[in-house]
Amino acid sequence: MNIGVLAIQGDIEEQEEMVRKIGHTPVRVRRVEDLSKVEALIIPGGESTTIGKLMEKYGFMEVLRGGDIPILGICAGMVLLSKDVIGKKPPLLGLMNIVVRRNAYGSQRESFEDDIYFNGEKIRGIFIRAPVVEKILSDKVEVIAKEGDNIVGVREGKYMAVAFHPELSEDGYKVYEYFVEEVCSP
Ligand code: GLN
Repeated sequence: MNIGVLAIQGDIEEQEEMVRKIGHTPVRVRRVEDLSKVEALIIPGGESTTIGKLMEKYGFMEVLRGGDIPILGICAGMVLLSKDVIGKKPPLLGLMNIVVRRNAYGSQRESFEDDIYFNGEKIRGIFIRAPVVEKILSDKVEVIAKEGDNIVGVREGKYMAVAFHPELSEDGYKVYEYFVEEVCSP
């Protein structure tokens, strides 16, 4: 499968490495035209305000909102996929029926690691100024990851979002496998 990595901002190379690790081909997506070469898209972490504004400027918002390409949103990508945001609101894709709180762990825990439950399995979660899902707006949304009581992973149809950075942990490839096996080709 050709899996696109939105190459606007964030740790693009680490995403590409993970895609290769699970046996697929990463393709950098810089312009809307590049979407025609991919069967799925990863939106990496970064600064959701910056990424959102550039996505708007380059025309990604319209195309992705109207299309049927499966998307995995990571951290800032989770924010961008959401319907609404508590805190400063960047331009949103609004494709998932969730409300997220940006920088939900506050300045005290800007970045940290913790065991999380992902798809019923314990894996390591690396959180960097992470959001959490505060509210679920539809029963089509399935919770797939939790850190303590916090919802840090969700899926809805062909969209999936995680608040942590699976590209930075050893067992994080399981998140990409889940995306390909369960979300892209259920
Ligand atoms: N705090 C960032 C935001 O809301 C996300 C951080 C990240 O992607 N690591 O945009």
